[in-house]
Amino acid sequence: MLGSLKKMFSGSEEETPVNTIGKPDISREKSAELYEKSKTYFPGGVNSPVRAFKSVHGTPLFIQKGDGCHIWDADGNQFIDFCASWGPLILGHNHPVVREKVIEAMQNGMSFGAPTALENQLAELILKNNKYVHKIRFTSSGTEAVMSAIRLARGYTKRDKIIKFEGCYHGHSDSLLVKAGSGLVTFGETSSAGIPKAFADETIVVPLNNEQAVQEAFDQFQDQIAAIIIEPVPANNGLLLQTQEFLEFLRRISTKNKALLIFDEVISGFRIGFEGAAAYYNIQPDIITYGKIIGGGLPVGMYGSSEEIMGMISPDGPVYQAGTLSGNPVAMAAGIAQLTELAKSGFYKDLNNKTLEFTESIQRFASARNYKFRVFTIGSIFWFAFTDQESIRTSEEIDPASMEKFKIMHRELLNRGVYFGPSGYEVGFVSSVHTKIELEKAKRAIFDSLDIVFRGSRV
Ligand SMILES: *Cc1c(COP(=O)(O)O)cnc(C)c1O
Repeated sequence: MLGSLKKMFSGSEEETPVNTIGKPDISREKSAELYEKSKTYFPGGVNSPVRAFKSVHGTPLFIQKGDGCHIWDADGNQFIDFCASWGPLILGHNHPVVREKVIEAMQNGMSFGAPTALENQLAELILKNNKYVHKIRFTSSGTEAVMSAIRLARGYTKRDKIIKFEGCYHGHSDSLLVKAGSGLVTFGETSSAGIPKAFADETIVVPLNNEQAVQEAFDQFQDQIAAIIIEPVPANNGLLLQTQEFLEFLRRISTKNKALLIFDEVISGFRIGFEGAAAYYNIQPDIITYGKIIGGGLPVGMYGSSEEIMGMISPDGPVYQAGTLSGNPVAMAAGIAQLTELAKSGFYKDLNNKTLEFTESIQRFASARNYKFRVFTIGSIFWFAFTDQESIRTSEEIDPASMEKFKIMHRELLNRGVYFGPSGYEVGFVSSVHTKIELEKAKRAIFDSLDIVFRGSRV
């Protein structure tokens, strides 16, 4: 398999003709077999929709193992991975420090449903290094963290309505699957079936980067809005970077109207810096939610706020929120191991510099050839957009037709041993273990793929 990988990397355009659809030069037999089976067990053959390859060529690759910046599929093909389990694996796959800490924790048992010192340790690590939250609670997923944050905001303000932004994803709880992004946009749906209209009525959806829309929402629903929730770095529907001014405006208008500002940092937290977007933009939100990286690859979410607001949470206060496996010791151990690495000085500087070098050189390549293509980036997150716009800040600015180009690119990258999340609306992640050599290899695959995408479009 390594031989064929070598061939893939040394492959010139000629070796991978445009019409490789369904005819990859590497075997995907075992993945195909597993997929046939999984379709009989799970809707769409998967346990989370975006994994289904619905918006790209081919069928899902079943992953056998990961190590460092690489993953291997069931057929033994090796890939340089930029999906990183959709963000959590900032130290790459199977990092020895995380693995050892997890094994150590497991030797004492998997779960007790009673407090453990590990919860204190992870909390201390977070609170010591993050001045934007003062009291926290762990959950088992990002969705739960956000759902709980919304309930907390409603309980605290005694108001029902929330403002969310078109193009931001906040997990799959009822009040937030209203014109949500990510997988839903990919499937061309605006919301999910099964959500009572009455729930959706409590969620006001406005465009990003639009002060007037937010102002109008407050005018129209005076004294009814519990919170504004935003991904301060919207990264689930492309990478829709907001301006400092807009985020500051949200802070001001929330305060003025006695509504809470919730930063959903499930993806940006511990990613663009240890203190996430709050520190990057230097804005103090009222509640922050975290997930993904915080669990080191195991299921952990968290929400945090001031002592006062968190005092509303049961058993101290009247807002109920719980979890059988919340603060699970094995998951806590993984989080402690990973976050300890992240807290070391220079970690983010190195990672972010490496990412910038990588994305800038891709941009230089595309610009030199006049390709209608831009790489947007922040921290170690990046997004390939088939556009010539200098910035994209709202979901309406994403041309759905451009996703056809991503589809070709995704196929060509897979054929060259580079793995991206199977949707053009998803971002890529660089991890601390992407070496210079591997990034160079990935770049060559990206260059070749871009040539094919744009050669194809001119035919
Ligand atoms: C991933 C994500 C969620 C949902 O987290 P899950 O762990 O998938 O439930 C919520 N908000 C944001 C911003 C996310 O990126």
